[in-house]
Formats: sequence, C-alpha cells, structure tokens
Amino acid sequence: MLIAEEKHLKILQEVVSLPTAPFYEERVVQYIHEFASKHNLLVHQDAYGNQSVEYKNTNNSVPLGFLAHMDHPGFVIESVEKSLLKLRALGGVVVPQKEDKLRLFADRKENLVSVVETLEEKTESTKATYVFTQGYIPEKMYGFAMYDLDAYRLEQDIVYSRAMDDLAGCAALLALLSLLSEKKPQAHIHVFFSRAEETGFIGTCAMSLYNTLPQGVPIITLEASKELPGIAVQGEGVVVRLGDRSGMFDGETTAFLLDAASSLATQEKDFRYQKAILNGGTCESSVLYNFGYPTTGMAVPLGCYHNNSPSGKAECEYIHKNDWLNMVNLLWTSVLQSEQRIAQKEAKKQGFIKRFKEHEHRLNISYIPQLVSELF
Ligand SMILES: [Zn+2]
Repeated sequence: MLIAEEKHLKILQEVVSLPTAPFYEERVVQYIHEFASKHNLLVHQDAYGNQSVEYKNTNNSVPLGFLAHMDHPGFVIESVEKSLLKLRALGGVVVPQKEDKLRLFADRKENLVSVVETLEEKTESTKATYVFTQGYIPEKMYGFAMYDLDAYRLEQDIVYSRAMDDLAGCAALLALLSLLSEKKPQAHIHVFFSRAEETGFIGTCAMSLYNTLPQGVPIITLEASKELPGIAVQGEGVVVRLGDRSGMFDGETTAFLLDAASSLATQEKDFRYQKAILNGGTCESSVLYNFGYPTTGMAVPLGCYHNNSPSGKAECEYIHKNDWLNMVNLLWTSVLQSEQRIAQKEAKKQGFIKRFKEHEHRLNISYIPQLVSELF
C-alpha cells in the first residue's frame, strides 16, 4: 500500500491557495506554524525568516534533510507615483499588459488593481521591471500582488494554481510532517522551508552562509520544475533530479534517492518515477552543493512554468496529482531508508570488492609478457 492518499491532496489544495511572493511569505509561514502545532511538532525560525522542523526518533546519527521554497514570482509594493501604485516584479514573471488585472494583498485585504503601464529599467548588471496600477492605494506601503488567476482548480487529474512552484513542494513536506507525527518512524529528519528563492536563492544563501543548516547532512530539495517533453513527462511520476542548468548534484545523495525510488517501484506497481537532469532552471540544490552540502533534488513536472502560457498571457501553473502523490511516497520511503544510507553505500562497496576478488588474479601483470608471447 502506498502511504500517500487522496486525503493528502487537501494539504496540497490548502497550501497552493495561499498568497505568496518573494520576501512576502507570511501566510505560508503562518500555515506551517498552525499545521505543526496541530501535529505536535515544533517550528524553528532562523534570523532571516526561514522555517525548519526537526523530527528525531532514534539514537542513531544518520540525519537526512528536505527543503522547499515558500515564494513564487510576484509584484511587490515600492511606492506611489503620480497617484499610481508602483510595484516591482521579483522573479521570472510574465510582464502584464495595460488593463490586465492583478490581485493586491495589502492592508489585510485583497483588492483587484488594473495595470496602467509597465517600465523596464536596465543597468549594467540588472534589469528591473516595474508595474504601475490603479484601483487601490494601500495605507501602508507593504504588500504584494499576484496574477488574478485561480488559487486552486482541479480538472480530472490535473491541479491548477497561480503559484504551484514551489507551494506544491511545501505541501509535500507538510504531508510528510503529518505522516511523521502519525506513524513515528525511527529516523532523524530536518525539514526546511526557505524564503525568496525566486530572486536568487536569498533564503537558502542566508541559511548556508549563517549555518542554519546542519553540517554534513544530505539535503534533498523539492521543486515543481518545467516539464521537458520526452525527459520529464507529466503523469509519468515524480522526477529524481540528477542535476539542473548549472550542473550535477552530489552523487552519493542522488544514489541514495534513486535506490529509494527503485525499491519502492519494485514493491508498489502504482509508484512511478523518472530520473532526469532538469535543466529548465537552476534550483536550491545547486546553491547548497556549491556551499559544500551533499545534496540532490526531486521534482514534479510543471506545466505553464512561472505562469508562461503558449498564448503569452499569464496562466495557472499545473501538475498531475499522481506525480505529487508519488513525491510524497518517495519522501516517505527516503525517511524509512534514511538510516540505512551509510550501510547501503558500504554494501555497494563490498559488492564491488567481491567481484574484484573473483577476478583479481587475472590482473597479475607478471602474466602479461608470457601471454603476449603465447598469444601473438
Ligand atoms: Zn521553484
């Protein structure tokens, strides 16, 4: 029996419906805190607002970490200019056109605002896009806007949302936390929720630079990542992410995750997974890897990546619900196998040594001159 069930899809529905943007992840944070307290888990917040939950029910010391980011590309309030609200685009956005509607979250309210004009400012090192809107001027210059798209919609087996990346990853980690609190497996697990990934991995850099992350603990990042025809196909299962646009991940951690996926696929015919280098973007695994953490990734294939649609207009991102359920199943199997990680590596090494011993005598170089004279 696979552990992730239809009931876990409620967590997906609730989490992808939360409003979020880079540096404005408060609603997601609030949800994580409420969820954790319902499940008798403690949340730790670092000095930069990244969230983490540690689960330990073992005397062994073979911890494993998971990480997802809480933001999605969006538009954050800058100022008011000539009676218009000026928003700055953060992350890879589809630039809205005149008269497009955005949903503004400010003053504890939601308001629809209308785009009047956009402006691109280029300097030598950066490009900034600004959007000027009318319809509501907040009392306090604090808040953000998202596209006016469905927060959640299920059609057949496809789940649509304005912010699947990476709220789907956060939802999978929360589903895992609910399973940890319910089943209490023997394991030591760290779960991290990072901020402002879409503006250059700001939260994860803070965690890496200022030692929020436990040294030497392998960390598996979760993403909703651009589907790649023939490589990472929607509906074909969770993707074990071997690498991203900037390179390959840690071989040992990737091998552990592949072993977990292949053992689950052997036991459960309904579990499906793919393995691929997802080079549609760079993810937090690359950051962690370059900061010296052993890391790899998993992802669900994402349609309308960063709200880009064939029409050129912003549309909901979408995933296949079974890919997401398989992500939760793979998380769970990784947890159950986490303590065997080092033993698995040793067993593989012993397998190589056994084969070597069988054939070692054939390597004896003293034979070579003799063989040459006999054979040729
Ligand atoms: Zn992402």
